[in-house]
Amino acid sequence: MQFQSLNIIDPILKAIKEEEYETPTPIQEQSIPIILKGNDLLGCAQTGTGKTAAFAIPILQLLSRNKTYDKKRKVRSLIVTPTRELAIQIGESFKAYGRHTGLRSTVIFGGVNQNKQTSSLQGGVDILVATPGRLLDLMNQGFISLCDVEIFVLDEADRMLDMGFIHDVKRMLQVLPKRRQSLFFSATMPPAIVKLASTILYKPSEVTVAPVSSTVDIIEQFVYYTDKGKKNALLVDILKDEKIKTALVFTRTKYGADKVARVISKQNIKADAIHGNKSQNARQRALTDFKDQTIRVLVATDIAARGIDIDDLSCVINYEIPNIAETYVHRIGRTGRAGAEGTAISFCDATEKEYLKDIEKLISKSITVVEDHAFPLMDHNPEPKPKQQQGKRNVGHARPKPAGSNKQKKWYGKPKKSR
Ligand code: AMP
Repeated sequence: MQFQSLNIIDPILKAIKEEEYETPTPIQEQSIPIILKGNDLLGCAQTGTGKTAAFAIPILQLLSRNKTYDKKRKVRSLIVTPTRELAIQIGESFKAYGRHTGLRSTVIFGGVNQNKQTSSLQGGVDILVATPGRLLDLMNQGFISLCDVEIFVLDEADRMLDMGFIHDVKRMLQVLPKRRQSLFFSATMPPAIVKLASTILYKPSEVTVAPVSSTVDIIEQFVYYTDKGKKNALLVDILKDEKIKTALVFTRTKYGADKVARVISKQNIKADAIHGNKSQNARQRALTDFKDQTIRVLVATDIAARGIDIDDLSCVINYEIPNIAETYVHRIGRTGRAGAEGTAISFCDATEKEYLKDIEKLISKSITVVEDHAFPLMDHNPEPKPKQQQGKRNVGHARPKPAGSNKQKKWYGKPKKSR
């Protein structure tokens, strides 16, 4: 199926093309027509399945139908999600898919000064992506009114309940208009979630897609415990192995992507970086060079790597462990396509161990630890990260177990599958 056959309007189709999405994912194929018809939706799907586009695309389309730009814009769609990382990702998706629609969106979340967020709200927005605490806070301060919301999305509902947001959600529901379209997404459907869904949705259509974690079983996964400052040397060392024909290396930041590409290029390994600060032409060139193997290593941020589909990618390397477990699954899913063998390697410093635990929980297996390498983790209790760089958890303070407590082998030796 093509996006065109989902009756998506041209400005959005154009943006989808620019994102280099070729075909809709199963959740998109099923959900987009339901949402465009104006029906409520109960979606059982997790991050990594393309769920965000499954609701963002039709919401943008529905809101585009009757734009009212003569007056100050009002919040016509509200998306509530449990974590700031998810909120930021969803906000970026709305910006990307909606870039030719003229609709305006903004993201609000706690843990940062509110001024930038409130001035963006005061300018008027059509779409608001929010975490529950900051949303209620700014509503109480009079910066947000929900009385014009036409489409409400509750994302990651199970995680929302796990994180204790049920009362916040109930308070939100009290002020949302009764006549509205509601979309409810959850990775799991325990009784408490089904009950909550029934209080929000009206005659919903149901869509269920396979969990993303089930797609990674064929990929061999390894983790190297190392110090932050040794990651470059470790990467260069690993890339000496000629069995790695092509490697997609993920970094957390754009700056990091450039830096890593520079470091490995200096070692005569052909590499380039792609990220949002590069022009579309430069990104396209890097991608083409990588696809035809003119360069061997492509260093990318998650955002820039969206939509990248590369056949015969032999290795994905997580230079940093993603703080959202599903992002890991999505990253490593770039290798091992269509049943082909693939390898995923992750570098884990002491501050990232909690993220690794979350990943192992999501994929329900332990990742093989590689022991005999030249750059082992020595600094088990590094300085905490500066506040703005931290994810939700304050992992910098956690006292990690020594790396040597796990069984380890070099990955291209004969690794044990589990520890
Ligand atoms: P999500 O489940 O919404 O977090 O999406 C996971 C990733 O899939 C994101 O990086 C999206 O950019 C990407 N994605 C979403 N839809 C498509 C598609 N139709 N084709 C390729 N990539 C997609």
